[in-house]
Amino acid sequence: MSFDVIVVGGGPAGATAAYQMGRAGAKVLLLDKAKEFPRDKPCGGGLSARLLHRFPYVREFLESGEVPVNPIRRVHLESPDSTRVTYGQNDPVLYLIRRWEFDAALFRRAQGVCTVRNGVMIRRCEVKPTHVELESTEGEIFTAPVLIGADSANSVIARHTGLRSEAAHKEYAVDMMEETDYSRLQVADREAIYLFLTLTQTFGYGYIFPKTEHLNLGFGCKLDWYLTALRGKGAEHHAGWVETLKQKGDVTGETDRSRYKAFPIPVSGPLAQTFTDRVLLAGDAGGFVNAFTAEGIFYAMASGSLAADTVLEAMRSQRYDKRQLSAYQRAWQREIGDDLRHSVEIQHRLFNGSGRMDSLVRNAKHDPELLRLIIGYSMGAARYEELRSYMMRSTVPTWVWGKMKAAVGLSA
Ligand SMILES: Cc1cc2nc3c(=O)[nH]c(=O)nc-3n(C[C@H](O)[C@H](O)[C@H](O)COP(=O)(O)OP(=O)(O)OC[C@H]3O[C@@H](n4cnc5c(N)ncnc54)[C@H](O)[C@@H]3O)c2cc1C
Repeated sequence: MSFDVIVVGGGPAGATAAYQMGRAGAKVLLLDKAKEFPRDKPCGGGLSARLLHRFPYVREFLESGEVPVNPIRRVHLESPDSTRVTYGQNDPVLYLIRRWEFDAALFRRAQGVCTVRNGVMIRRCEVKPTHVELESTEGEIFTAPVLIGADSANSVIARHTGLRSEAAHKEYAVDMMEETDYSRLQVADREAIYLFLTLTQTFGYGYIFPKTEHLNLGFGCKLDWYLTALRGKGAEHHAGWVETLKQKGDVTGETDRSRYKAFPIPVSGPLAQTFTDRVLLAGDAGGFVNAFTAEGIFYAMASGSLAADTVLEAMRSQRYDKRQLSAYQRAWQREIGDDLRHSVEIQHRLFNGSGRMDSLVRNAKHDPELLRLIIGYSMGAARYEELRSYMMRSTVPTWVWGKMKAAVGLSA
């Protein structure tokens, strides 16, 4: 059977792209190395409200109970010096799901309109003059005029097309986490998430995300630091992190070693180029993750959707060259480009020594508007410009601010 397009990877990026193209009438082949769905994917499972606006069918998953959800209305934020502040609001700030159920729901929708092959791990990708050729670890060959690579942080497609370099350790973080049943591990406040701005040299965070039936907690650091300080000791470090949370009084019960997993996240912004002849990259494969918060599901689905639009347009003209596919890069830059660029800037500024984090949280403790903006920005609800201009105003003395406003003709 011949296909118009192949999608490699059936996570949020690939399943979104495949569903959109299949529904528009394209003949789509969706390949995933997982033998079946549901499959496990280490993740905090935090969905931002903007994801539900951009993809209203996700709201239906949550409302129908197809995907169990814990709506979160409170956030406990802690700085490296252990200053803690709590933020609350009436509407949910975040929706916590398990990827086990969420990804299976997305995958099922794609399956309804595409040809799906599970248990196919792609190990080679080659762009030929007339098509793209893929080879699986079993030696099976797949071809199509165009391809979307949505095969995650270690993307074979990104490396084999030369879009991502082989050795880029500093571009990644490693998140070490467990997702364990409440019968074993419990949290003091199940209606809140806990965020710890806990530095490990230059970058690091911890979190507790209570799902409906499971407690999810973890710790992230840059990959280069992980390789120097934690290689082979990740599980041990994780157990120590759980002990720290117990001492803080946030968690009770026991860690489950068998539920521990470590997984890479690209945290340096999108790749400089996310397309080439006959190939587009979406989701983690293209680096579409917020470099400050490590939110990736929204960006995976948004980039998957924009890649699908680009392929559908290319199919109309039957042109799959770089020039045609460059429309993809312009489309994501318009929708999420500034947001992702700012997230890298914030990461560099804030994760640059613990002092800035400490003073930010200490100031937020006494300034409810600053706290609202920090949480709002972190959860994708407030714009970077709002946060930045508020921070600038609150750090500039009032009389200087008055003079500045007068100088540009605003009432002081
Ligand atoms: C521990 C952790 C916590 C996180 N927490 C959050 C959070 O709370 N909220 C949030 O928004 N984001 C979070 N993220 C980021 C988020 O998980 C990712 O950005 C998101 O999963 C990216 O989706 P994707 O579709 O690109 O890739 P994935 O979800 O990784 O899906 C890729 C798919 O490709 C398949 N695949 C991979 N290689 C091949 C191959 N060679 N051949 C065939 N198939 C292949 C895999 O089996 C998989 O199904 C977290 C990440 C981690 C690691």
